[in-house]
Amino acid sequence: MDALEILMNKDHVVPYFQPILSAEEQSVIGYEVLGRININDDVKTLGDFFHNDNIPEEYIIEVDEHIQHLAFDYYCNANIETDLFINCNANILLSENDYTEQLISRIKLYQNKGLKFENIVLEIREHDYEGDLSQLGHLILYLKSFGIRVAIDDVGRGGSNIDRIALLEPDILKVDLKFIKDGMLSPSHRDVLYSLSMFARKIGATLLFQGIGDLTKLNAAWKNGGRYYQGFYLAKPCSQFVEPHCCKQQLTNEFEQFINHERKKLTQQYIFIEHLNSRLEEVVRKDKKHSSEEIIMSISDHLEDVCFRIYICDQYGFQRSTNYVKKDGSWQRQLEYLGKNWSWRPYFLETIVRMQYDRRGILSDLYSDIETNEFIRTFSYPINGELYLFLDLSYAFLFEQEGLLY
Ligand code: CA
Repeated sequence: MDALEILMNKDHVVPYFQPILSAEEQSVIGYEVLGRININDDVKTLGDFFHNDNIPEEYIIEVDEHIQHLAFDYYCNANIETDLFINCNANILLSENDYTEQLISRIKLYQNKGLKFENIVLEIREHDYEGDLSQLGHLILYLKSFGIRVAIDDVGRGGSNIDRIALLEPDILKVDLKFIKDGMLSPSHRDVLYSLSMFARKIGATLLFQGIGDLTKLNAAWKNGGRYYQGFYLAKPCSQFVEPHCCKQQLTNEFEQFINHERKKLTQQYIFIEHLNSRLEEVVRKDKKHSSEEIIMSISDHLEDVCFRIYICDQYGFQRSTNYVKKDGSWQRQLEYLGKNWSWRPYFLETIVRMQYDRRGILSDLYSDIETNEFIRTFSYPINGELYLFLDLSYAFLFEQEGLLY
């Protein structure tokens, strides 16, 4: 359907509402307003209309206004307190028209019927925005001065840039999980989600995951700090509001499943760490009087089923042994590593201090090895107050163990 046809059939354009659920209460906390055109009961999305740069601004504004009026009417008649998420084009909000003022007056018009600024969330796509970022920042501050909240839509898509988003200080980040395909979450996607969750935490924004189309995506949202969820797997867009607790049973059951799964995995990791600690204790205790090289040799003998690289550092991060690396089934010494410093690596100092206090070994998270580019984990173990042993565990080894790959 082309743009003019949509405009001529404006009377058939209606708002649809997609429920947004909260993890805290497992109930509907809001609805995203979406545009649909309904001709003879054939309902089509207006997504292409709103995201096409070639369509004149006036057309979009006209259809937007129409949808918002209907949505606000419906909201006020329903007499509820949930949030309404409204999609806005940043370029239109900031172009030479008074769209922003009109939007604000439109909301004011419904104030005495029960619509509050505090219940409005404006969704803005940062990566579509072509203008000066500080202008968008000012607009967001202005909107917030009314009590309106701002969500950055589709974070992570279309080359959106995390430090740009931080400058905008949004209340909510919407992350689309559509990129997870075939029920599988790749390690690199897992890292991206983890980084986004840390980022949201640092800037104090709430994470909303959308595009939740299956259990894997719901799990990814739950595991990565998702407070709000939206997607077909939970609730489809619909011309009417739904019963607020429509997903409570489902979410409660699935959270329980997630927790049981995580707990099992953490227990397996705990058992593995205990086991490795006692094996190392035996080897290291026997070798107390020996040099770093001798300790490493003895470990390569006793723990060759576990690791593919062994070395010893002091508490300042200086490597006090050579590298012992297993290549093609036999151990090789890499002399050039002696004396290198690793204190600059993430978590290094934190790990040393924890070992000094706990006097036991620590398993790192899964990370990509600089040399092999494989996902590995490192097991660090205190030999004494001065020397610390590092064992790198290969992907193949982790794969064989229960619960060590994630
Ligand atoms: Ca949106």
